[in-house]
Amino acid sequence: MTYLVFARKYRPQNFKQLIAQNHITDTLENAIKSDRIAQAFLFTGPRGVGKTSMARILSKALNCKDGPTTQPCNECENCLEITNSDSADVIEIDGASNTGVDDVRRIQNELLYPPQKSQFKIYIIDEVHMLSKNAFNALLKTLEEPPKNVKFIFATTEPHKLPATITSRCQRYDFHRIPIKKITQRIKYITDKENITIEDQAVFLLAKKADGSLRDALSLLDQIVSIDKAKITKNDVLDTFGIVDINIYHTLVKNIINNDNKNLLENLHSVIAEGNDITEFILGLIEYFRNILILKVGIIPEEVHEDDISELAKYKDEFTEEDLLYVITILIDAKEKLKKYSQPLLFVETTLLKLSNLDKLVDIESLESEIISADIAEKKTKNSKPNLKKKSKVEVKKKLEPEIEAESEEEEEEAEKRSVDLEEIKLKWGDFIDSIIDDMPVRANYLSNIIIAKVQKNQVICTTKSKLAYQQLNESREQLSNLLTDFYEAKIEFVPEFKKTEEDKFIHSPTLQDIKKHSPEVAEIMKKLDGFILRQEKK
Ligand SMILES: [Zn+2]
Repeated sequence: MTYLVFARKYRPQNFKQLIAQNHITDTLENAIKSDRIAQAFLFTGPRGVGKTSMARILSKALNCKDGPTTQPCNECENCLEITNSDSADVIEIDGASNTGVDDVRRIQNELLYPPQKSQFKIYIIDEVHMLSKNAFNALLKTLEEPPKNVKFIFATTEPHKLPATITSRCQRYDFHRIPIKKITQRIKYITDKENITIEDQAVFLLAKKADGSLRDALSLLDQIVSIDKAKITKNDVLDTFGIVDINIYHTLVKNIINNDNKNLLENLHSVIAEGNDITEFILGLIEYFRNILILKVGIIPEEVHEDDISELAKYKDEFTEEDLLYVITILIDAKEKLKKYSQPLLFVETTLLKLSNLDKLVDIESLESEIISADIAEKKTKNSKPNLKKKSKVEVKKKLEPEIEAESEEEEEEAEKRSVDLEEIKLKWGDFIDSIIDDMPVRANYLSNIIIAKVQKNQVICTTKSKLAYQQLNESREQLSNLLTDFYEAKIEFVPEFKKTEEDKFIHSPTLQDIKKHSPEVAEIMKKLDGFILRQEKK
């Protein structure tokens, strides 16, 4: 018995059976009904979404004995021949392997002869963007003076590669990716028909992995069915295709939130030990945070199985939108850099630790005495270390004088004379970001989301509601000041400020140097914690 792959066995044979492309079938059906059928069609869209199937169905609609009709019979000789790719009047050409001008000449010669037993001679050229320039030119001639009863259907995943002279002569139809839900329904339909027992979550994973392509989904189904088990489970799909289980990400993110670095790294090591690809793992993590973000803005992400939504939703209040954007930026950045590292695992470890430690903001007042007493204890016992692993309490209370001013006069003299105003800064802000985006994408991202609050004495004072953004920008304060100075050609000091809520009063935070002058103890604590002042309150 020959085994027919599902994609062929269940190939749609009429317009109604085509999934998720109603916007196209409706238009084509109307065109057929009103007898306004174009000379040339251009079908564009991702792979495996039904372009070639649509081309065949359209061919049948035109060449069926009852045609042109919106409901080809699928029984007449013409229909059957098209189904079997065996029609003398419907010629399928693969653009990838027929790219030469000779191939197009051959088509042009053939065009001289009328269709043999159908109304139309139809050329379906798949991956048409692969044709050579000469071939396009030859094709163009044909399109300019179309022979009677000839139709062209071009299909491509990359329409931007087609010359405008060709696209302008075609009626264009853009095919969509197929939603996971629709793919899931189709897989269930087929597995029912085939008496295949498969878990819901397994079907979902196949549909998700197919990434919008029904053809890919069905070929994944072919593969998983071939393991030949009475019941196909979620784990079978995970194992067969090397997919990292969402539960791993649940745990991992929980550990990031809890700053549980030990378990975090253990999670990572077990994922890698199971043979998962490290880049795939990072991609999965990016997607996970992206899904939290989607949930946070109030949309249920279709990429998450309904059983997993509640777990994901638990984390959405742990992050602000800006935090999530920042985390995603870090991970995307890491994914890019990963290729360059000879020890990718080490690199991913540090990236995860970075995420886990992002919100290491400490209530200094409560720690102050602890550290000082620990320090005393340390001096006595020498070996003991103060426990600094306290986490996330966002207030920092301090008794600093708020105004730390007065650059030395020498410095003032050094500064360029030109002054800048808010308007000028805002006007060129976008250009400034563009100029640094390649070298510091994460900071550029923050700068594009920051509010430029005011400019006074060439201090550019910017506010952000994200503590992470603040932390990162404050770390690069000097560097950014220099970059701004170069860019605006005026001495500029960059001053980031954290503004938690609209109501919060904020005072820009001093540098470690400043603090040292006024309160060496606090400076010491900040250094130990690698921390920064978030807010000061006068007592
Ligand atoms: Zn027919």
